[in-house]
Amino acid sequence: MSKRDYYEILGVPKTAAADEIKKAYRQLALKYHPDKNPGDHSAEEKFKEATEAFQVLSDADKRQKYDQYGHQAFGPGGPQVDFSNLEDVFSEIFGGRGGVDSIFDIFSGGGARRGGGRRSHGEDGADLKIQIEMDLADVLEAQEKTVEISRLEHCEDCKGAGGSGRQTCKECGGRGQVAYRQGFFTFASTCSRCGGAGQTMKSTCSSCRGAGRQRARKKISVRIPAGVYDGIALRLRGEGDAGAAGGSRGDLYTVVRIRPHPMFERGGDDLVSDVTVSYVEAILGTETAIKDLTGQTLSVHIPAGTSHGTLLRLRKKGLPSVDHAGLGDLIVRVAVEIPKNLSAKEKQLLQEIAEIRGASAQKGFFNKVKDAFS
Ligand SMILES: [Zn+2]
Ligand SMILES: [Zn+2]
Repeated sequence: MSKRDYYEILGVPKTAAADEIKKAYRQLALKYHPDKNPGDHSAEEKFKEATEAFQVLSDADKRQKYDQYGHQAFGPGGPQVDFSNLEDVFSEIFGGRGGVDSIFDIFSGGGARRGGGRRSHGEDGADLKIQIEMDLADVLEAQEKTVEISRLEHCEDCKGAGGSGRQTCKECGGRGQVAYRQGFFTFASTCSRCGGAGQTMKSTCSSCRGAGRQRARKKISVRIPAGVYDGIALRLRGEGDAGAAGGSRGDLYTVVRIRPHPMFERGGDDLVSDVTVSYVEAILGTETAIKDLTGQTLSVHIPAGTSHGTLLRLRKKGLPSVDHAGLGDLIVRVAVEIPKNLSAKEKQLLQEIAEIRGASAQKGFFNKVKDAFS
C-alpha cells in the first residue's frame, strides 16, 4: 500500500510554516478524534494518518529528512516516536489533558497506562488527614490521643505481594515493556499485565484480588505537643496509606481544633481573663482572686486607682509555647462596675466626696494660676 504524502494529508503546501501545520492538524484531529467518532474505524485511520504526518512535519529534523527522502527517510519501521512527546503535542492542541487518554488507547493498542514507564518504583500511598478536637486546658501539657482511621494496609494474606509464586510475565517476556507498531510508529510502553516488573504471580491472592492492599481500620496513637494552636497540622510520617508494588507509605496529617473556652481568650501563648471589681475597690485598691486554666485560684492585686479596662499581667501563668520558648502570661482585664441604684446614704456621701474633690480641684486650679503669675 503506497503511503499518502504528509503535506497532502494535512492539506498544506510544502512551504507551510509550523503554525500552519499545527492549525491544519488541529482541525483534522478535532474532526476525526476517536471520542467524537466512537466505533468509526475509518475516522480512526484518518486520525492516525494525520497524527503521523503532523509528528514528522512538526519536527524540523524529521521534516527535513522527509523533504529529502520521502517516506523512505524513516526506513521500513517508520519514524520512532516518543510517547511522551506525543502527549505533549496533544495536550497543547486539546488543552490540558483533553482527549489524550483515548488517543493513547488507540495508539498503544489499549490498556497502556499513562505514565506507566514512570511507575517502576511502585505507587506511593496517599496522605491522609484527620481532625482532633481538644479543650484549651489540654494545650497545657502534651497529649497522647488514640484515633481510629481507615487506611490502605498491605494485605496480610499475601504480605502485599498480590499473590504467590513468581513467573516471567507472558505478555512482555520479562522485559516489562511492550512494543506496539502503528503504521510508521513503534511505541514502547509499560507492560499493562505486570506493570513493568517483568514478573507476574502464579496465583492471585483471593483476599485482595491481586491488589496487595486492603482497606482496614487502624488505631493510631497521636502525640500532640504542649502549646499547640487551633488549626495546626501535625505530620506523622509513614502513617498514611500503604504504597503499592514497593511504593512508600503516605503520611498522616492531624489537624488540631481547639474548642473556645468560656472564660479565657487566647492571644498567642498569652491568656486573657476578665475580673470585675467595684468602683470603690478600683479607687482604693484591693486583693481579688481569679481561677487559672487548671482551676487553681490565683490572687490578683488590684492597685489603688485602677481604671476600667486596665490590663494586669501575671507572668508565666499562660500557655506553654509550642516552640519550647517558655510560658506565656495570664492577662487580667479589669472591669470596674459602676452601681446604678444608690441608697440615700450613698448619694449623700458621694456628694460630700464630690464637694471635697471639687474643692481640691479648684484649689489645684488656683494653685496653678498663682504659680503662673508669681
Ligand atoms: Zn509484562
Ligand atoms: Zn492479598
